[in-house]
Amino acid sequence: MGIKPGLAVIIVGDDPASQVYVRNKERACEECGIYSEKYALDASTTQEELLSLIEELNNKKSISGILVQLPVPDHIDEEKIIEAINPRKDVDAFHPINVGKIMTGNYDFVPCTPAGVMELIKESGIDVCGKECVVVGRSNIVGKPQAMLLLHNNGTVTICHSKTKDLKEKTKKADILVAAVGIPNFITGDMIKEGAVVIDVGINRLENKKLCGDVEFESAEKVAGAITPVPGGVGPMTVAMLMKNTVRAAVINKSK
Ligand code: NDP
Repeated sequence: MGIKPGLAVIIVGDDPASQVYVRNKERACEECGIYSEKYALDASTTQEELLSLIEELNNKKSISGILVQLPVPDHIDEEKIIEAINPRKDVDAFHPINVGKIMTGNYDFVPCTPAGVMELIKESGIDVCGKECVVVGRSNIVGKPQAMLLLHNNGTVTICHSKTKDLKEKTKKADILVAAVGIPNFITGDMIKEGAVVIDVGINRLENKKLCGDVEFESAEKVAGAITPVPGGVGPMTVAMLMKNTVRAAVINKSK
């Protein structure tokens, strides 16, 4: 078909976690044989300079997907940057057009982390239909799209957040529990229903530099029917879904 996927990854500044994420994405491209370009910009890069690079990549034939690693420095308006990316090259699916499409269920791209969670569920032979699904966290990049995807798969979905009352009462009802909170070991075994599927999206770095999830693995694994580890669970799936979205973007851009 002559389709050659190409991913442009832009990173502004030197946030250590972002550097690791970008390196993993570059490595995945190499492993999959996907052409990639990395733009490592100085923290002092202006919004106009970044917008101009995005415009250039929007028009570049060899690039099918564009990813701006978030967060960007404070002097840059994140929303403006996301909105500048051509929605057909928006492999993170953060552009308002793609966000809207996720609501309707008629989407080209799904944000990589929630997509990875759904793939894990599917590949593990777990049927979401009719299940009580509880998502803890309502961010635009994880919690909200995750809830929509579970809903599209006919789950009965509850979204919890920092103002939720009696959280434990909600999480205890979950057949499928997704934790995307950003607080180490926040969900403990006593908050989990016997046999539940527990998916830990959290990536938290402890003072001793070790990574840990939002779920306290030791107590949770005793109760859960299935549980994802951190590291090694959702994280690698996120990168895999980025590769999938980049290939999809190449197909979409070829046909339009
Ligand atoms: P955000 O900080 O944007 O959102 C956190 C959510 O948790 C918010 O909705 C917040 O509620 C909710 N929350 C905070 N405290 C509580 C509480 N006490 N009780 C219930 N809910 C609470 O984080 P993200 O969604 O971006 O990320 C979540 C985690 O996932 C982080 O650890 C992050 O590093 C990780 N992550 C992992 C990825 C991967 O590839 N595996 C990709 C992206 C993120 P409220 O809205 O009310 O403030």
